[in-house]
Amino acid sequence: MQNNPTTSISSVYGPVNSWRAGSSLGIDLIMDPSTCSFNCTYCQLGFIQRITKERKSFVPTKKILEDFKTSEWKDADVITFSGSGEPTLAINIGEVISEIKKITKKPIAILTNATLFNDPQVRSDVLDADLISVKLDAPDDKTLQAINRPAEGINLNLILSGIQKLKKDIVKACHGKPLLQIQTMFMPQNKNQVKELAKLLNEIKPDEVALNTPTRPYPGGWDIITRGAHGEDAKKIKFSTKPLKTLTHEEAKDIENELRELTKLEIVSVYKH
Ligand code: SF4
Repeated sequence: MQNNPTTSISSVYGPVNSWRAGSSLGIDLIMDPSTCSFNCTYCQLGFIQRITKERKSFVPTKKILEDFKTSEWKDADVITFSGSGEPTLAINIGEVISEIKKITKKPIAILTNATLFNDPQVRSDVLDADLISVKLDAPDDKTLQAINRPAEGINLNLILSGIQKLKKDIVKACHGKPLLQIQTMFMPQNKNQVKELAKLLNEIKPDEVALNTPTRPYPGGWDIITRGAHGEDAKKIKFSTKPLKTLTHEEAKDIENELRELTKLEIVSVYKH
């Protein structure tokens, strides 16, 4: 495999328990080093090693399928594309989804930051998924810079227009799926921006909103293990970690109630689990 020294490490990990989806098998289309068009201050991967919006092939489809077949995929409730960065940066995401669908009918979820959805090829690549969970933490560019620290040239308008185009493509496809979920990480920087976020949610009209707050510490260095480090695995991280500020249960409940009132949307929250 070119440019990627992690051939012996599997591109498939878990299943890990996810509050959103039960037992989730992770597919890592990126692997080493961590690569994303964001560099979120709360990212479980730590400081992103390669911040870019350029798509390319990171891990060959053949390796991913071999890793998948030898994984414990039969034990998973859902197959989740997440891993060591932004999965839509991998140009083979559509091909991998289609090949996995030939092996199993288990639902496929994609966790994405939506920075690439202005590209029609990227939208077409993800349309066969069952759930697309889109990160939206910031209602303005100042907060986007403070929390998500995007690659140069990415701004909130671009992200929102990509999400709207994706929504139109989903409606046009008439499959009733993928379901569009907006996932928002509440932090000290955005916890007082509920009204502004509600306004955006009312424009997007997703099928569901997932409220989150950082539950894993921020690692001080990069190790591929961080992509799925939950529970006991999290203790194997070699680097020092920094705990992040989370919301109190009361703050989370207040935000959930306010958002439900302002949007009338289906809302799920990490604090219920
Ligand atoms: S979008 Fe996801 S992978 Fe990328 S920096 Fe943010 S949390 Fe990490």
